[in-house]
Amino acid sequence: MAMITRAPRGTQDISPAESYKWRYVERVAAEEARNFGFNEIRTPTFEHTELFVRSVGDTTDVVQKEMYTFQDKGDRSITLKPEGTAGAVRSLIEKGQLNDALPVKVYYITSCFRYEKPQAGRFREFHQFGVEMFGPAGPAADAEVIGLAKSILGRLGVEKLSLEINSIGCPECRAVYHKALKEYFYQYKDKLCETCLGRLEKNPMRILDCKNPECGEIAANAPKMVDYICGDCKEHFEGVKAALSAMGLSYTVNPTIVRGLDYYTRTVFEFISTDIGAQGTVCGGGRYDGLVKELGGNSLPALGFGMGLERLISVMEKTGCEFEPEKSCGIYIGSMGPAAALEAVKLTSKLRSEFGVQAECDLMGRSVKAQMKYADKIGARFSVMLGDNELAEKKARVKNMATGEQQELLLDDSFAGKAADLINFADLYEVCEK
Ligand code: ATP
Ligand code: MG
Repeated sequence: MAMITRAPRGTQDISPAESYKWRYVERVAAEEARNFGFNEIRTPTFEHTELFVRSVGDTTDVVQKEMYTFQDKGDRSITLKPEGTAGAVRSLIEKGQLNDALPVKVYYITSCFRYEKPQAGRFREFHQFGVEMFGPAGPAADAEVIGLAKSILGRLGVEKLSLEINSIGCPECRAVYHKALKEYFYQYKDKLCETCLGRLEKNPMRILDCKNPECGEIAANAPKMVDYICGDCKEHFEGVKAALSAMGLSYTVNPTIVRGLDYYTRTVFEFISTDIGAQGTVCGGGRYDGLVKELGGNSLPALGFGMGLERLISVMEKTGCEFEPEKSCGIYIGSMGPAAALEAVKLTSKLRSEFGVQAECDLMGRSVKAQMKYADKIGARFSVMLGDNELAEKKARVKNMATGEQQELLLDDSFAGKAADLINFADLYEVCEK
């Protein structure tokens, strides 16, 4: 029984009482992305496993340890998406949408699945708001994408995150760097974890991202990419820094940032919080100039970021950011007796369909007292109680629940419109008061 009344490890429910926070954050992020000219893309929750092996990289933790992979009934290897970029790129290539006017700019909100050890800020199903931009090779685009992340955080009231940037070079300079890294790590061959031993030949840079503390200690003194980047990559990185400064964004260069996914080239960045414990990276991203070609498209520079929504909301909660509340019920139409109940159903339906008002009536067959208690509990802003008297006199008193003020309205065809006016007027008044 325990299995069916307990959510799987590493997953979270978002309760009806908390979901407004998510809708608020998602709405602000999407609105801001739209202001920057990004359009939403939605792609499947699962893809062919090969897509992630090719894009995320077969020596990454994500591919080696964390993917939810299974054979489907048609004997295909399927993986629940561990991140959002690969699916978006696959879709745009498949639909030929990267041949459109450049830059192509998309955003998404998606579940991601990674079989990780659950802990604060680390879940097996988590959610990302992500953006991708295709086309621009120049550093202004890097700054624009970082600027978008910063704007979203700013609009949500998240001010304290530090922006850390690095350049991890291009395939040419990285080849030289890999050589230096191999030489360095080779000295510690006996101390590296088994996974990193395997990475030593194939992709030594991945050792820098290993979560094993011993590997981490060794990695701390490893050669740094910044000392190996080629002239073009250096110029690009300087350009990004200049553009960020021109935009008034402060940053620090952190030469240890390599990101957990293989497709990154040149600029990588993270927005890091100190308020939510060890998993402080709220947003991570960078450039991935080789990925579109790697997945079968044209050679097209690209860049983007993924923002972890659990971590973002947790930072907001910890630092006292406000989540815009949603309007509660506009009017509760209570009733006594079958004739009044029918009238309540009619008015509720009219208020919703003709006036767009959030209206509710009794569905439980409860007493008047219990109905009023319920209206209070759901935060109804107005209420009215209909009974035989009201029906006979064709009048009913609508009560403002906050002020206690009552207003008598005719219980005829004009009622719904007049009640809607009262609610809308109270809304307006509230906005003006603010
Ligand atoms: P980390 O080093 O924290 O594992 P990552 O390099 O694996 O991060 P990305 O793949 O770049 O992270 O994902 C982007 C963002 O998604 C992260 O910055 C983080 O906010 C969030 N994220 C990643 N993995 C998880 C997870 N298991 N649970 C919750 N959020 C996550
Ligand atoms: Mg990770």
